[in-house]
Amino acid sequence: MQDLEEIKSSALGEISSCKDLHELQQVKAKYLGKKGLVSQALKRIKEIPPEERRDYGKRVNALKELIEEEIKKKEEEIRRKELEEKLLREWQDLTLPLENTIGSVHPITLTLERIVEIFRGMGFSVEQGPEIELEDYNFDKLNIPKDHPARDMQDTFYINKEGYLLRTHTSPVQIRTMLSQKPPIQMIAPGRVYRRDDDPTHSPVFHQVEGLVVDENISFPHMKFVIEEFLREFFQKDVPVRFRASYFPFTEPSAEVDIGCVICNQKGCRVCKNTGWLEVMGCGMVHPAVLENCRVDTEIYQGFAFGMGVERLAMLLFRIDNIKLFYENDIRFLRQF
Ligand SMILES: [Zn+2]
Repeated sequence: MQDLEEIKSSALGEISSCKDLHELQQVKAKYLGKKGLVSQALKRIKEIPPEERRDYGKRVNALKELIEEEIKKKEEEIRRKELEEKLLREWQDLTLPLENTIGSVHPITLTLERIVEIFRGMGFSVEQGPEIELEDYNFDKLNIPKDHPARDMQDTFYINKEGYLLRTHTSPVQIRTMLSQKPPIQMIAPGRVYRRDDDPTHSPVFHQVEGLVVDENISFPHMKFVIEEFLREFFQKDVPVRFRASYFPFTEPSAEVDIGCVICNQKGCRVCKNTGWLEVMGCGMVHPAVLENCRVDTEIYQGFAFGMGVERLAMLLFRIDNIKLFYENDIRFLRQF
């Protein structure tokens, strides 16, 4: 009985002086472990006179329960204290006034607004479409064949539902517009698009602006005029523009549009790879198959379309050389706009 009293007072003393959960764990093992002092005391029951054994057993069990209870209380106390200390350490006075609390508009938004504003000025309407798009609108109706490499899993994010994907360009908005509106159509579609691309000039999510004009007697010079006007307005100077023959499944003829390098004024630099030219968009006369897929009468109507990458234009406008800067939300970068 003397032993039990000693175990009790030393256990309670050690528990109350524990400073963290690790120390408490050691005390727990010392008393309640398999070879702990309480277990040893229980084994000594054989040495006790038979008439006292029952009473002894009860006392050992009561002691065990008491120590368990005290350890549990201490554990809660330590956890509460640690939490309080953590809160105190991470405390911030949210009522303090901040300097420079006024945010700025993101460079991608600034660029998008600038593009939209210029086309609105030329009488274009702004159309929107869903980012989760039908494969039919994203590829089939745009005359992109089933075996076209753009459909590859490497390029396209497919959705876990037959026939759906994350749109790889804003061109399906053309389809939606032609299916729902009668010509004359003069629209742009700004928006987010997705491709499985990731390097200093490509991001898996980026922005495009698509443009479409469908009317009677529309020809290549109309398109050339609109694009040249746009680029002059966008860069606020008379940039040299050239149209280079190209190929897209949804336009015929197709062209890629280059501007004289705005970084080096065509003297040759790293950005233009010393060619003096920068590719800024793709365009072309809408392929008759695309018009027919959208129930537009090709005997009466023709159209042209163009598409540009917003990040690309923003990089040139603000002279940014890494596309990642747009998405990292680094305040030091964003504050410059
Ligand atoms: Zn250059």
